[in-house]
Amino acid sequence: MSTFVQQKNSQPAPQGVREAILAKPGFGDYFTDHMSHVRYTKDQGWHAHTVKPYGPLVLDPAAAVFHYAQEIFEGMKAYRHADGSVWTFRPTKNAERMNKSAARLALPEISAEDFVGSLRALVELDEAWVATPKDAADEVSLYLRPFMIASEKFLGVRASHEADYYVIASPAGPYFAGGIKPVDIWLSKDLKRAGTGGTGFAKCGGNYAASLQAGNQAAEKGCQQVMFTDAKESKYLEELGGMNLMLVTKDNELITPSVSETILDGVTRRSLLELAPSIGLTPVERDIEVAEWRERAAAGEIVEAFACGTAAVITPIGRLVSDDFTIEQSTEPGEAAMKLRSTLLDIQYGRAEGPEGWMV
Ligand code: PMP
Repeated sequence: MSTFVQQKNSQPAPQGVREAILAKPGFGDYFTDHMSHVRYTKDQGWHAHTVKPYGPLVLDPAAAVFHYAQEIFEGMKAYRHADGSVWTFRPTKNAERMNKSAARLALPEISAEDFVGSLRALVELDEAWVATPKDAADEVSLYLRPFMIASEKFLGVRASHEADYYVIASPAGPYFAGGIKPVDIWLSKDLKRAGTGGTGFAKCGGNYAASLQAGNQAAEKGCQQVMFTDAKESKYLEELGGMNLMLVTKDNELITPSVSETILDGVTRRSLLELAPSIGLTPVERDIEVAEWRERAAAGEIVEAFACGTAAVITPIGRLVSDDFTIEQSTEPGEAAMKLRSTLLDIQYGRAEGPEGWMV
């Protein structure tokens, strides 16, 4: 593993400022004192591993990322346990996914050692930014955002020969500050985020750019999130703009669309499928038609729906709203969703033992 050279920030946030931020962090608004950085050139490979003061980047206006969106990222959290130690959740899953994204976006792959090393190096310097939860409802964490950009100064359309990889960190508060409430989801049938052979499975900025207009439409309809369907027929449920979808049947099946070329392989999704049997749910990965959710919810056979991802863990879905129909799923968080949610959070916060190797 490469060593990350420490360049300490000579002007870190004063303790009082940091504590005020940690008392009310929100999400994605504040950043810690440092960032990890690794440089890539075609000749030298990955080199110059450093943790340095957080701050603006200097990039050439012709850098490829600005023109052809050659960019990928990851998202994960660091949690403080009761004994004061700080942990990340399944970081090698994020490393694997980052490299799948890198391959698809023609960016250089980075070793899992460097990926995990970059997180470790940053959290070591900025440990004071990982808040201590007051109780189990106090879902505070340090959100970690690794990302990689094509930085070569060149306007020709080809894969960049230079890249930079960074990790920045942002304190995160409980996602549902006022208690967990089901959200309404807009079913996007005209705007799509991904198609066969495209980049849907990759975590690249372009996918999110492609999803934002649908997000605006959802807001106009009074919905908080977007449910995307397949690009061809609008027949199959895929995923939300930043979360995977799960449905629970009255027979205790936990159903989710199979990961494919067009769906992100969520670490939360995978973990919940693995934990499901321990709470009496049978995990099922398969194609799900919009019509199936509609018909089986009406028949009382689909009893819960929720979205899952790193930021909110599990978000219960109240209604699915579309142009021509609405599925009234539920007004309260479902029992299975809440049980899965607390099972996963207990592992992440060290209150329960998880499967071997999940906490690092
Ligand atoms: N789908 C999309 C499009 C996402 O952006 C995310 C968040 N990374 C997820 C699903 C959930 O993935 P994870 O559980 O790894 O956060």
